[in-house]
Amino acid sequence: MDLRVRKLYEALFALEDLRELYRHALPTGFNEQEEAEFADNIARVEAITKELKAGKGNPIKLVAAELELRTREEEFININPIQAGGRLTPEARKALIAYGDGYSVCDQCLTGRLDKIRKPPVDAFHAELAEFVGMDEARVVPGARRGFQAVTSSLVEKGDVVIVSDLAHYTEFLAVEVAGGVIKEAPSGPNYIITGDAIAETIEQVKAETGKLPKLIMIELVDYSYGNVHDVAGVGKVAKEYHIPFLCNGAYAVGMMPVNGKEIGADFVVGSGHKGMAAVAPSGVLATTEEWAPTVFRSSHIAGDVTGRSFENKEPEMLGCTLMGGTVVSMMASFPAVKERVQHWDDEVDKSNYFMREFLRIDGNKSVSEYPRKHTLSKVDTRESFDLIAKTHKRKGYFLSDELKKKKIVGEFAGSTRVWKLNTYGLSWERVKYLSEAFLAIAEKYGLAVT
Ligand SMILES: *Cc1c(COP(=O)(O)O)cnc(C)c1O
Repeated sequence: MDLRVRKLYEALFALEDLRELYRHALPTGFNEQEEAEFADNIARVEAITKELKAGKGNPIKLVAAELELRTREEEFININPIQAGGRLTPEARKALIAYGDGYSVCDQCLTGRLDKIRKPPVDAFHAELAEFVGMDEARVVPGARRGFQAVTSSLVEKGDVVIVSDLAHYTEFLAVEVAGGVIKEAPSGPNYIITGDAIAETIEQVKAETGKLPKLIMIELVDYSYGNVHDVAGVGKVAKEYHIPFLCNGAYAVGMMPVNGKEIGADFVVGSGHKGMAAVAPSGVLATTEEWAPTVFRSSHIAGDVTGRSFENKEPEMLGCTLMGGTVVSMMASFPAVKERVQHWDDEVDKSNYFMREFLRIDGNKSVSEYPRKHTLSKVDTRESFDLIAKTHKRKGYFLSDELKKKKIVGEFAGSTRVWKLNTYGLSWERVKYLSEAFLAIAEKYGLAVT
């Protein structure tokens, strides 16, 4: 436990307490008692910063009762597969401080539509988001899954077939399920790579079996299991040939690597804010073309039978508004950095490959993901290396987590020494080298051969 990290949190919290005074005092200024509290709080902040500087004092442990501080991004290297791309930028953390209150972006909502709010510039952000993924129109949504759902709910009727891959994320399945659709899985084959050909074959199968074409194709640019990069452009081409709408699932891609929906030939591009865009959960983006926007972003037509009230201005698939506070503002605040970082995707892939090359020097280690790596999420097989140690170690598979933790590395699936995943996204070269050396050192400590 790093005392300075704890002190840093304590100082931040003390400043929040100071801020709280303003939220209760009269807007005309503090009274005498409030001035005294203000002075006390300042003194407290000063005392904490002194301790922070000196690295002394008692470490705090809690944010609030029963709620522990979360310090893993400060104290450790976190290789958790799902958390890397959603780590907040400092801009997003600051935005969260300022816009954490409930409906905070609604101060100047003039038309009752989130995507039309000008201050803060949520409207401009929507336009930029669409451009960012190479599409015409975009909406922010509470997670990629809600993007899938908006599309299935608009396009899929009871009994309609939707093609996904055998690597599809469970949320794609559920989005089809709530719409009453039927799943047909296209095979990724022995290489775990989805191709246009596999999709074409699956479409033909569906046609032969049901006499109808599938209603929708949903394929991931990068799958969650192997972190493999799939031939979505090939899928887009096939989808066009058959005139079947194609949703490209960019949960592990949008905000991390360059994604252009039009170049892919996608009708919909979905991204995850908390998976790939350095944003607060739940957040994400659903983008589409001019052709499909009127379908998925259609206006409400319902009316009350007694009051006659109607809501033409609202979009039913969005249930009106989606992200009205810290979530959307965190996306917006991170966006400049996100746009910049996708330009350096090659460097992220280089780091991923550097790590994997070193990791594979340990005798018995295997990459289950395609290798060389094209992404930073990787699945590794250590059944012939670390798992052999786990078999006789009194801590079983936890020996590896213990050793990693000692080296201040967390995020691998605790206790797992068989097949597991890690993500090097966003780690500096220094950290990637440290991480690689840590695994080699653990291997050597337990007598595994390193070549
Ligand atoms: C994480 C993930 C999702 C779900 O994303 P949310 O934004 O959490 O809804 C969907 N598909 C894939 C491939 C994912 O990796």
